[in-house]
Amino acid sequence: MGEARNGNDITTVVIVGGGTAGWMAAAALSRYFADGRRRFVLVESDAIGTVGVGEATIPPIRSFNGLLGVDENAFLRATMGTIKLGIEFVNWGRKGDRYIHPFGSYGQDLHGIPFHQLWLREVARTGDCGTISEYCMAAVAAAEGRFARPAAGARSLVSQMNYAFHFDAGLYAAFLRRMAESQGTVRREGKIVAVHRNGESGDVESVQLESGERVAGDLFIDCSGFGGLLIEQTLETGYDDWSQWLPMNRAIAMPTAKVRSPIPYTRATAHSAGWQWTIPLQHRTGNGHVFCNAFMESDEALRILQAHVEGEAMGDPREIRFLTGCRRKTWNHNVVALGLASGFIEPLESTSIHLIQNGIQRLFALFPDKQISPLERDEYNRGMRELYEDVRDFVILHYKATQREDTPFWRHVQAMEVPASLQRKMDLWRLHGRVFRENAELFGLPSWVAVMLGQNIWPARHDPIADTLDPDRVAAAMAQMRADYRRTALSLPDQESFLRQAGAWA
Ligand code: FAD
Repeated sequence: MGEARNGNDITTVVIVGGGTAGWMAAAALSRYFADGRRRFVLVESDAIGTVGVGEATIPPIRSFNGLLGVDENAFLRATMGTIKLGIEFVNWGRKGDRYIHPFGSYGQDLHGIPFHQLWLREVARTGDCGTISEYCMAAVAAAEGRFARPAAGARSLVSQMNYAFHFDAGLYAAFLRRMAESQGTVRREGKIVAVHRNGESGDVESVQLESGERVAGDLFIDCSGFGGLLIEQTLETGYDDWSQWLPMNRAIAMPTAKVRSPIPYTRATAHSAGWQWTIPLQHRTGNGHVFCNAFMESDEALRILQAHVEGEAMGDPREIRFLTGCRRKTWNHNVVALGLASGFIEPLESTSIHLIQNGIQRLFALFPDKQISPLERDEYNRGMRELYEDVRDFVILHYKATQREDTPFWRHVQAMEVPASLQRKMDLWRLHGRVFRENAELFGLPSWVAVMLGQNIWPARHDPIADTLDPDRVAAAMAQMRADYRRTALSLPDQESFLRQAGAWA
């Protein structure tokens, strides 16, 4: 039973591209399908290279590591990685503002009433209960630069903290490559110069390298980056351009030498027509300025970046061009696009690697036969589309929810129309501070609360249900929580000490 090979089984999967997406797919597929019945071949071209950025992640990356059976400390050592407890946004609501979008919840709900409603009521009632960040374990620990892993199964305050990683993208790809190759993935070096399709079905049959060699397969994973070699250049799937909402289209990346012990969060600092990322690694700091060329020239963007980094530049600054948006279908014929080939929402909330991971996990859930079922393919496309749109809306919120009027760029994004799905969320929030999570949305209540309040979008009033609780009892409970979070955070080691003690420091 079940042992016989089905003639309709996929036998060869060809992965086109060896950037983060390609090697993530290769490592996961060759581990998941470890029974030796399928071949995995990855084609990449050293001459073309990879985009080479993408250093900040969000907490679900830990489940991807789990799927790969990765030891977290070994992974951190191999990638010069650090811990990320959230993102600090500087100058977004107004110049001079700062807030943390933390990986973790706010406070504890009382009688099923969301904590932020209790906090909103206390603000209205006394105006004297501190910022909402003071009631979040991850935010308090981040602000103090501290971290410890929650003990498995323990219900401590530390376990309310969620975390992700920063890492060196090149080292991460190399780490995954070692893993994929040790699991049997075969790598072919060379530039693909032609793609051959079946005359009847239109499916891709093989890719041809400069050497003339043809690499044939049943299923192709297009991880070829922005160009979308198979999904777009071959299958002409089409791309939905989202730049009317996400106008960023350039980034200048410039790593610098490390000058201080790494902070356990990403920093996103808004400038006059874009924003700058600061990503602390063990050995260096990743920096980049994301901007929109309709509002700023590259020279000026570079000058701004250079004026706002610490430490010596490591190598020449590099400009990357992109168009925000999403492929109309991320799975077309027998080609599944992952990574930049599938679309790009700018890096503000560090979601691209997650979109790759999610695409891989979704592909596992819907892994096809050779005769691909359109129903399963449609289901994949529906789910990916929904995820892309959810992430898109959350990222747009950061621009729309600004009060900055100091430059044409900020006036433009403040005035722009946003997708109806986001407008509805913002309107609901403005009434009673309510957020409704739809479908399997990636960003939950704490994320929306963090950005709305962090960027001064106040509801007209709190949810009246919060008034049903005795105010003195709530105030006492909140004071206790605030003190407990602070005391617990201060009892943790700073992140460098933690990494060294854990054996995670390279
Ligand atoms: P690439 O890295 O471009 O790889 C493409 C591969 O295809 C290469 O191996 C190339 O050689 C190969 N290839 C292409 N054409 C051919 C051909 N003809 N023949 C053979 N091989 C070919 N993501 C995050 O999660 N967090 C972040 O903080 C983050 N920051 C970012 C900042 C910027 C400015 C940008 C642009 C992206 C950022 N990303 C981030 C996204 C992240 O970099 C990408 O999702 C990730 O690197 C995956 O890229 P990729 O593998 O799809 O493409």
